[in-house]
Amino acid sequence: MIVYKFGGASVKDANGIRNLEKIVSEEKDNLLIVVSAFGKTTNALEKVLKAWISGDDRYKEMLDDIYSYHLSVAEELFPSGNSAKSKIDISFAKLEEYLNTSKKAGYDFEYDQVVSCGEIWSTTIVAEFLKNKGLNAEWIDIRGNLITDDRFRDADILWSESTARIQSVFNFRDKDIYVTQGFIGSTIAGQTTTLGREGSDYTAALLANMLDAEKVVVWKDVPGLLNADPKWLSDAVRLEEVSYREAVEMTFSGAKVIHPKTIKPLQNKNISLHVKSFLAPGEKGTVIKPDTVLKHGLPVFIKKENQIMISILPKDFSFAMGENLSRIFYLFIQHGIKVNIVEASAISIDVCIDDDRIKVESLIEDLKAEFSAAYNENVEMLSIRHYTPEAIERITKGREILLEQRTRSTVRYVVRKA
Ligand code: ASP
Ligand code: MG
Repeated sequence: MIVYKFGGASVKDANGIRNLEKIVSEEKDNLLIVVSAFGKTTNALEKVLKAWISGDDRYKEMLDDIYSYHLSVAEELFPSGNSAKSKIDISFAKLEEYLNTSKKAGYDFEYDQVVSCGEIWSTTIVAEFLKNKGLNAEWIDIRGNLITDDRFRDADILWSESTARIQSVFNFRDKDIYVTQGFIGSTIAGQTTTLGREGSDYTAALLANMLDAEKVVVWKDVPGLLNADPKWLSDAVRLEEVSYREAVEMTFSGAKVIHPKTIKPLQNKNISLHVKSFLAPGEKGTVIKPDTVLKHGLPVFIKKENQIMISILPKDFSFAMGENLSRIFYLFIQHGIKVNIVEASAISIDVCIDDDRIKVESLIEDLKAEFSAAYNENVEMLSIRHYTPEAIERITKGREILLEQRTRSTVRYVVRKA
């Protein structure tokens, strides 16, 4: 069997879903389709959540807009008899009822209960459409099957609990196609969780691993993995083959085409990952697979925006290494903050992290007991894999460099935002 993943951009309107159907109907193998929320629905739901949490009743209008959006897509797809409508209606009504009646629990918990709905609605419409087109497809609620811990908003998979369930539900005994949600899961107790923003790629990889898929295809609005973001460097070119290792390095450094967590579950089972354009499904795209060497010899440029650089100094002037280092990183883990780059000198440590203001402020608060901590906002991390002097010159020229780190294969800079 094969796993296909369609992201929000590929299913943002009725035409996108018609295109999905065309791509899917050409696949002869058994197919598991993982779908994200339509277009920018996840962002819109985050706004609903924020308004609701802060007691702002305008969340209701925002939710109405999201409802109308989904309804209009469904109406365009099902001109005679909208088989998705009653399902969507029930799901929206449930969410409204929840928002009207529930006592508000913690932010992360509520986030998952509300924001996860986008994937339920999108997959419901996609599955109905495929069935209407005569495909032998079934909609599966991934909750109750993909089991996670209760770290809401960034849940970790419970592998043994999930694998058995996933293998039994996606058995292809009397279906050729399953449609299910990316990004979401549930605890053993049945509470909905999410796996982190843009987590649908990760879901596709997890399911591929558990089901021993032949390959995963991620359908994107770009022709594959490129050696730079073309919005940044317009002469970017497609990479034909990339090793798992290279792909992990690229995504960790900030390449946005696939989620950084996607590679591990695939590498562990030797499953190849194909990144292809849903706009040109006949084109080759990029294949990520074991031990291929980058043939092109091109530098790969990666930019990670919206970073904060924190400089940490032990107050008692003790060395930053050893125990201090482990205490500092323990605090990062406790606050759920991922470190993108670390540079340590005798008594100071510089760390670059994503600019998540709420998390950063509470981290700094905790650090201040033992350390003095200052931070630089509005910085970016630039990385070059397989760098050359020209490549370095190209992206650092005229930039204020706050930190530089070089290995044989990679150079990274933290620079102030241009
Ligand atoms: N819909 C979710 C998000 O936008 C998950 C995903 O797209 O992968 O973050
Ligand atoms: Mg999305």
